[in-house]
Amino acid sequence: MEYLFSHNTGLRDILNDKFIFLFLDYDGTLAPIADSPASATLSGKNKRLLRSLSKKPDCRLAIISGRSLEDIKVTVGLKDLIYAGNHGLEVEGPGIKFKSRVSPGSKSVIRRLYEEMAGKFSTIKGVFVEDKGLTISVHYRLVAEKDLKCFSSIFLEVTGPYVLSGKIGIDSGKKVYEIKPPVKWDKGKVVLWLLARRQFVSGKKKILSVYAGDDATDEDAFMALKKKGLTISVGNRSGSEARYYLKDAGEVTEFLKLIRDLRERA
Ligand SMILES: [Mg+2]
Repeated sequence: MEYLFSHNTGLRDILNDKFIFLFLDYDGTLAPIADSPASATLSGKNKRLLRSLSKKPDCRLAIISGRSLEDIKVTVGLKDLIYAGNHGLEVEGPGIKFKSRVSPGSKSVIRRLYEEMAGKFSTIKGVFVEDKGLTISVHYRLVAEKDLKCFSSIFLEVTGPYVLSGKIGIDSGKKVYEIKPPVKWDKGKVVLWLLARRQFVSGKKKILSVYAGDDATDEDAFMALKKKGLTISVGNRSGSEARYYLKDAGEVTEFLKLIRDLRERA
């Protein structure tokens, strides 16, 4: 991976004069990772940047998050953006409303698993089992070192049978496990779907797709855009499929500012 800002002049050329479709993960990308999802708020600076970018005619913005659609919409709190929640299982934006087909059986498996975990983990301090409707997040950032072993063994014991019978899929992120229904739909698929829609509207006009994300679930998007766009890992993570990296969420803000400034000068 190359450091994005080591190509400053080239980067300006790439970003200049094109329709940009900007896909941004939220946690760890637009807001630094916090102890709990509720405390990872969007800074005023980023909010202003996103708002001004969303108003540019040659720019489209989509927030692609693991949070539930409702949560990410409220957390970012801007109109005219596309929001993809639950890793793309639910999408909403101007003229778009989409919910992936998850069977009622799958939904009830997720519900049952949520209840089971909420009960079993009530004895370990610091575990936060988050019900996101179509998916579940199990956060363990605040679990004490001495309890981690116990946490893992309960997690494996509860989820094991569901994984083995193909009823759920698990992704692991930064101190969080994401439990999803076994549908073949992820951040990469939703990005390609949104791009195809946009290309249909834009006709022959070239679209530059840009994706920035910091975690394992963003790798699907990096792979999907491998030969098509600018892929940026937030944090220099070894083994990432992204072409470039930025050091942290603060540099993402700098990058958004660069795009806005280029657009304003145009
Ligand atoms: Mg993230």
